[in-house]
Amino acid sequence: LETTAEGVRIIDLKSGAWQEEVTEEQRRQLMLYAAIVHASSGTWPSEVAIEDAGGREWALPVAPEEVRLLVALANDVVSTYNAAASRGWSAIEGLARPSDETCGNCVARIACEPYWRELKSDWQYHGAARGRMVKRLESVGAGAIVIETESPHDRAGAPTVIYRIDVEVAVEDIVAVVGAEQRDDPGTLRCRWNSQLEIQRIEKLPAAS
Ligand code: SF4
Repeated sequence: LETTAEGVRIIDLKSGAWQEEVTEEQRRQLMLYAAIVHASSGTWPSEVAIEDAGGREWALPVAPEEVRLLVALANDVVSTYNAAASRGWSAIEGLARPSDETCGNCVARIACEPYWRELKSDWQYHGAARGRMVKRLESVGAGAIVIETESPHDRAGAPTVIYRIDVEVAVEDIVAVVGAEQRDDPGTLRCRWNSQLEIQRIEKLPAAS
């Protein structure tokens, strides 16, 4: 918060290199910040602004009527979520609307079943696949495996090669990776330092005697 002769300004520092104009999502975020300042101080901020890593700034005036409308919409969303939560996990999952744009930066992808059900191989920059490990590729060094793809669903049954896996993984394990490097071939993923990885080991029942 910055106090000026005209009043309080809210400045949101963004570290992303791509910042240009204030996006619609950022505008809503800033207006909700204005609502918080108003609720805690009783005074509307004079301005809200985005500042990028290079010090460039984009400012917007605060329109209290618009902010009140946005707060009402946000409260509706919270009520809808709470109502679903009271009905159980499947009702919460029923609210999910996975898409290329919506899920691209979501940290919950690795554990989100609706995401895995909807994921397609042409979603940009997801670097994601899930399936059962069928073999290790010893010939190209440690950490290279092949899974039988279950998701993306348009590649179901096809092999996906995953390189640079640095955790213990065995044939038959269910392997899920998101945020891997994916070049032109959707059947090849390379884990990066910040890729998320999940291994599910299906315990085998003891053989009947
Ligand atoms: S991955 Fe799941 S939780 Fe995350 S944005 Fe997509 S649908 Fe929502």
